[in-house]
Amino acid sequence: MKSTQESFPSNREQNLETKLDNLSAYEMVNYYFDLAADKLNIPQEYRFAMKGTYRELRVQLLLRMDNGELKEFIGYRVQHNASRGPYKGGIRYHKDVDLDEVRALASLMTWKNAIVDIPFGGAKGGISVKVRDLSQRELQGLTRIYTRKIDLCLGPHKDIPAPDVQTNATIMGWMMDEYSRRRGYTPACVTGKPIELGGSEGREQATGRGCVFVVQEACQDFGIDLKNATVVIQGFGNVGSNLALLLDEVGAKIIGISDLSGGVYDAEGIHIKKAIAHVKERGSLEGFLPNQRLTNEQILEAECDLLCPAALGGVITHKNAPNVKAKMIVEAANHPITPGGDLILNRRGIPIVPDILANAGGVTVSYFEWTQNLQQLHWEEDYVNQELHKKMTKAYRNVHAMSKKNNVPLRIGAFMLGLERVFNAMKSRGI
Ligand code: NAD
Repeated sequence: MKSTQESFPSNREQNLETKLDNLSAYEMVNYYFDLAADKLNIPQEYRFAMKGTYRELRVQLLLRMDNGELKEFIGYRVQHNASRGPYKGGIRYHKDVDLDEVRALASLMTWKNAIVDIPFGGAKGGISVKVRDLSQRELQGLTRIYTRKIDLCLGPHKDIPAPDVQTNATIMGWMMDEYSRRRGYTPACVTGKPIELGGSEGREQATGRGCVFVVQEACQDFGIDLKNATVVIQGFGNVGSNLALLLDEVGAKIIGISDLSGGVYDAEGIHIKKAIAHVKERGSLEGFLPNQRLTNEQILEAECDLLCPAALGGVITHKNAPNVKAKMIVEAANHPITPGGDLILNRRGIPIVPDILANAGGVTVSYFEWTQNLQQLHWEEDYVNQELHKKMTKAYRNVHAMSKKNNVPLRIGAFMLGLERVFNAMKSRGI
């Protein structure tokens, strides 16, 4: 039964939740930053330096389209903080990419890389573009122009991009080729590349796999039997589909999946390999189990043990958080829950495994890829997965310990761990 507080939040609480949900994406990240910095007593004079971004590039990309028209696209690369190592973060191709979101995602990368204790700072990039409207020739052309325009801040010891939403190994291969044309063969300039160009075994599945390792730990702590757990996953791209496949392999029952075309629900469990084959053939889940469709909104509110948003940001807010029925939420995507939604879920006692921990497997194997490239070595997949397991379980245990010690949710524990490490690095550099 719901508590009175849960059913009837006071007006003041409602106002706060609404106010928080009106913040921009970057302000939302900094809201959590402040909560963690307060707990750590980080001196005020350091806070602006830690919150702010180091460099922001906005570049005009002029592309000659297949029909002869000259079209303008806008690209970004934001470097947030490099106290712990070169800037590192993905490249997103999406119509909604803007400077504020790229800043937010760059900042999240700084804390994420510190939490899994890999020697990188945080960055993010992207192009505001509808990928579906481009031919393969146009997509490659746009990627090459973008790489040339941001080339001045890239490099294996400066800033190393990787795939994110609607970018993949093929696109990273083009980026590496474009960078290498000017500088000579430089595989370590991007990660998430095709294997034949120096990509790492296990990188494609790394974000989903890392997420499973963290889920296994969290389920033990929060009393969920993963082998018999029911799971709903929103988003069925790189992260969502691999997460579904790997959770299915460890015995969980995936009862709901979704993508841009909508959701599919089956209480008996969805055949994930068939769903993946369908998407490979048709490009989306459209037409898969046509009689068991739900909307994306309904998928998030479905009854389940684990809810894993694995698509875009801001999908669980103060508006739908009261309707979430999951026992635990795992943020496979970046910032899928707004601070207003987060407050409500915390009040309802639903544990949330935060993005900066849950989806750090991708950048962790990117670190392994970079390491292999610099040493001109190639690791076996079993070794990659074994090292990923070590990194992710250690990170989870450290975050859990920090949250227990300070009596804060896992998210604030994670921010505290990340902030503490970056703060110490800045001080050690004499800043
Ligand atoms: P992707 O482009 O491969 O897949 C995105 C999926 O989300 C697609 O299935 C798409 O149809 C679906 N989607 C988009 N809008 C949706 C909506 N409104 N409702 C439901 N589904 C929707 O992207 P990805 O690489 O899987 O990234 C997913 C999330 O994980 C992003 O937040 C990304 O930043 C984060 N992430 C990715 C990686 C990585 O290694 N790729 C690493 C860390 C974090």
